[in-house]
Amino acid sequence: QAKNQGAGKIHAYSEALAETAHRHLQVEKGLHEALEHGHLRLFVQHQVDMFGKVAGMEALVRWQHPQEGLISPAEFIPIAEESGLIIPLGDWVLEQVCLLLTHPRVKAGGYTLSANVSALQFQEPDFVSKLTALLQRTGVDATRLTLEFTESLLLTDIEAIIRKMVALRALGVQFAIDDFGTGYSSLSYLMRLPIQEIKMDQSFIRDMQPDAASGALVQACLMVAKSQSLRVVAEGVEELAQTHVLQAWEPSILCQGYLFSRPIPAEQWLQDTDKLSDALLTEL
Ligand code: C2E
Ligand code: MG
Ligand code: MG
Ligand code: MG
Repeated sequence: QAKNQGAGKIHAYSEALAETAHRHLQVEKGLHEALEHGHLRLFVQHQVDMFGKVAGMEALVRWQHPQEGLISPAEFIPIAEESGLIIPLGDWVLEQVCLLLTHPRVKAGGYTLSANVSALQFQEPDFVSKLTALLQRTGVDATRLTLEFTESLLLTDIEAIIRKMVALRALGVQFAIDDFGTGYSSLSYLMRLPIQEIKMDQSFIRDMQPDAASGALVQACLMVAKSQSLRVVAEGVEELAQTHVLQAWEPSILCQGYLFSRPIPAEQWLQDTDKLSDALLTEL
């Protein structure tokens, strides 16, 4: 009996594994096709200052699957990274972001755009030359482009990474550490990178109690940022009370979250942007 139960468990376990592997293969194959047929879509989400003014946007990729609908990057980015598809996918995102930066409405608003870049993508030997060529080809003002990395970037050769960042900094490109505070790298190591911004992870914002240890943690992050003259973006802001607390602590903070807007398709943003800025102004 006991032996049977064990065997049953192992059977269920290997079935689950097989299912995961199957899903993985399906996604990988589908992603190939998505890239080929133009089924990726660029969404953008606002980053808002203490006056409610939109300062910038983060570009977030989605996969518009013909049958399954919108698929979240949380599901396909890890698979894209494992399969190497992150390189063409990442190229596509950067190209879209640069094209959006050349749009008259984006230029007129003086908005900045942030793109998520996978550590694997940044480690490609030709990342700098490809991005340089893209910036030249599109004529984008590179100071309006921010590349977001997670701390996983530091798992490889830091000197090589710094060299690349310095080369892109010379063009004006800015750098942000995404999901700040959730990685395992030491702060002193992280601060060797020539970055301009930290994005405080949503878990900190979600759990933040102003008068408790969780609030002190957020304040500590803000102090680190200030000491290094770094801009701060708070991720996952869902409640007005959170913005009040954050802005009292750091008036220059930018807030990003469902409170202000969900990520929306870039084309829709281009259509709505006039209405949106009017609405924000009347709200204040
Ligand atoms: P991330 O860069 O940390 O992006 C923030 C995520 O938080 C986004 O999820 C966004 O939709 C979500 N979010 C924003 N505001 C709120 C809020 O108020 N509440 C909650 N609960 N969530 C909020 P999304 O779009 O699903 O992206 C997930 C992750 O996928 C991103 O995390 C990023 O790591 C990765 N990703 C997205 N686009 C790209 C890309 O183009 N390239 C690469 N390499 N990774 C990407
Ligand atoms: Mg990000
Ligand atoms: Mg993040
Ligand atoms: Mg993340």
